[in-house]
Amino acid sequence: MSATLPLRCRVCDAETDGSAAPIACPSCGALLPVHARVSPFALLGVARPRFALGRDELERAWLTRSRRVHPDRFAAKSEAERRCAAEQVAALNDAKRALFEPYDRALWLVQQASVTPPQLAQQALVELMEQRERAEEDAAARASIVDDARARFRARLEELGRTLAPLDEADDGYTAPSPPLRRAAALLAELKTLARLVDDLGGGKLIGTLDAR
Ligand SMILES: [Zn+2]
Repeated sequence: MSATLPLRCRVCDAETDGSAAPIACPSCGALLPVHARVSPFALLGVARPRFALGRDELERAWLTRSRRVHPDRFAAKSEAERRCAAEQVAALNDAKRALFEPYDRALWLVQQASVTPPQLAQQALVELMEQRERAEEDAAARASIVDDARARFRARLEELGRTLAPLDEADDGYTAPSPPLRRAAALLAELKTLARLVDDLGGGKLIGTLDAR
């Protein structure tokens, strides 16, 4: 996870470790490109991948770093420098998108450890389909079905936090498949299905990036 990712400065040729997503070359100060394999956590200044992260913390980290590479600051610089700035901006925006929502963050962690989110269990799938049909036929039942699905979503999200908490504490919690990660993957499948049900029944988006998933 913390493997070295060598980056070479195009100005002074110094080699830097890109795994901590450095913005500028420590030797000459020129902007550095972004290593293709750097983690979104490193880009947002979080030393080790983890699930428990505050939205404010991520927002602040994104803002602080985005200011340092804002295109306006490099408007008068060389084309190579401007290209690096644009690359850093794009990488920061991608990192924010990948980590901002708990659902997306957990999905990244699960996939990083090569665990594939499973299909939802047949029984759960049938149950959800029945609820959807009932809500479509019976407007009075609709509100309570949406409420139930929202409550279940919240409960599963809390369980996701409890499931991943021990991995957050371990140095190598997210480097290989493990029972908690497989449980997390199953919870993600259920969360996505519940979010779709709520969204389809007009209850709003429980996962902001649902349509992109
Ligand atoms: Zn340099």
